[in-house]
This record gives sequence, structure tokens and C-alpha cells, in this order.
Amino acid sequence: MKKIEDMTRLVIFDFDGTTIDSGTPERFKPIYKEKTGENWPFKGFWGRVESLNMDIFPFKPLPAVKADYDKEVGNDETFLVSLTGRRPKLGAGVEAILTANGYKFDRYLYNYGSDTLSNKLEQIGKLLKEFPNVRVVAMWDDRNSHVPTFKQYLEGLVAKGRLDSYEFTHVPNEQWTK
Ligand SMILES: [Mg+2]
Repeated sequence: MKKIEDMTRLVIFDFDGTTIDSGTPERFKPIYKEKTGENWPFKGFWGRVESLNMDIFPFKPLPAVKADYDKEVGNDETFLVSLTGRRPKLGAGVEAILTANGYKFDRYLYNYGSDTLSNKLEQIGKLLKEFPNVRVVAMWDDRNSHVPTFKQYLEGLVAKGRLDSYEFTHVPNEQWTK
């Protein structure tokens, strides 16, 4: 069991398009049609538990991210977090996919609040309060529009001395347009 006071490094991986090469509605809806013979019957996509059905969709890790994850595992001073904009009710589906693909995190966090970016920042702030000895935050995320804000936030924490440094990996993913 990891101890709060021992944690010096906080590692945060996004889920969709980062740890797992999950698909956008544009990419996955045709697969749904092919596998079930029916059109995707719901208005939304990301909020539906059906979007995480491993019997229908081909969920695979992104190899470069998985290699990075493998380097972080097993360090007693590193706290490993999966942080996604998916809602808490989809937790079982998200965790089943991660487990099936060789990922295990110390904590799995979901968007219980407003937009994904605001909620992620709020949850990182809470983690830094919970783990006061963390000096480095490392993040992996593929969402282009969120990257500048994350970097700015982490740079701010370095500037005020809360962190010694941060590492940000912008995961390239062609399927996202924003
Ligand atoms: Mg993502």
C-alpha cells in the first residue's frame, strides 16, 4: 500500500485517445452498424455505457503511451492516476477496458462536474492537496484544445514553488479535430 507522505511524483493519464485508442463517434458508429446490423440508436455517445462495449468495439492501448506507463509502474514514490472526462456511472466500463489492456492505476477519477477541462484541473488541485510531498506532476493527454491550459496551470505551480517541475506529453491522435 502506498503511503501519502511517500508520494513525490504524481502521474496522470487521460483515457480516451491516450491510454486507450478509443474511437470518436465518427469512427465507432460504423463499427456498431457492422457488428449489430443497427444504427447507433442513441443521441449521445461519450455518455453512453454502450460506447465502452468491448464485444463491439476494438479497444487497444496506444503503444507509445503504454510504454511510458510501463516505465512509471512499480515506483513506490509515484501515484498513478487515470483521469477522464467520462462520467462516474461509466467507471466500471472504463476500468474493465483498462484492466483488459494491462493498465492498473492507484486511482480512477471521473468527471463529476462541469466541462472536462475545468473538472480535470479541479481534481489535479485536490490531488496536490492530498499529496503534499509531490514535487513533480507528469501528464499525458491527447486533447489539443486542453493542452495549453494544462501547461499554463502546471507552469504556474512551478513558478510559485509548489512543484519542482512538470512533464507534459501531448499524445498525437489524428482522429481528434479539437
Ligand atoms: Mg482524450
